[in-house]
Amino acid sequence: MTQEEYKIYIDNVIRRVETARLRVSDYHIVKVVAISKYSTSDEIAKLYNIGQRAFGENKVQDLKLKAEKLEELPLEWHFVGNLQKNKINNLLDINPTLFHALDSIDLAHELQKKLEAKDMILDVLLQINSAKEESKHGFMPEDAAYAYSQIKKECPNINLKGVMSIGAHSDNRDIIKKSFETTYEIYKNLDGATICSMGMSGDFELAIECGSNMVRLGSVMFNK
Ligand SMILES: *Cc1c(COP(=O)(O)O)cnc(C)c1O
Repeated sequence: MTQEEYKIYIDNVIRRVETARLRVSDYHIVKVVAISKYSTSDEIAKLYNIGQRAFGENKVQDLKLKAEKLEELPLEWHFVGNLQKNKINNLLDINPTLFHALDSIDLAHELQKKLEAKDMILDVLLQINSAKEESKHGFMPEDAAYAYSQIKKECPNINLKGVMSIGAHSDNRDIIKKSFETTYEIYKNLDGATICSMGMSGDFELAIECGSNMVRLGSVMFNK
């Protein structure tokens, strides 16, 4: 694809996001984070050149390599993967814009310790395992609200801003929708939460219609 063709292609993806958000309301704003885990630094730079600023990775090492390689560009980096305790310092060295996947109280405490030592504040989302899948990380829906308030109380250097969820792994649209509704319901009842991160390439329009205001788009943004 030429740069011009890629721009037309991305305009079409953005139009799909627009159409979905307008079905919610004129005032419902949705942010697109381009997930670059299957893409090279050159591909990220191409997408940057047609206007994308927010990118995300799911491995600390990859985030570090790409952020360093592209440090000349004013990019915003998100970390959307599950964080191992021994990688916390590496993540904090990159100072990401948002960590989407805080998935246990234990990790919250460890993160708090490291943040305090570095005198840093990090914006974080709580990951919800809304369809209660064995294969997925995150808090069970019934535990999420309590965990959120506990972390707020016990971890002053973690700035909780909302929730993140991955749609149910299913071909049945109703089951996926149900998982998004579960996450949105939790989000709506959290004090001061402003970010509901849900929706990927295969289900972002549905996620937006269920209230998502941040979509994480990988394959569709990089045309893979
Ligand atoms: C890979 C990934 C995405 C993007 O997936 P696509 O289906 O390629 O859009 C979004 N969120 C997380 C947590 C991911 O790991």
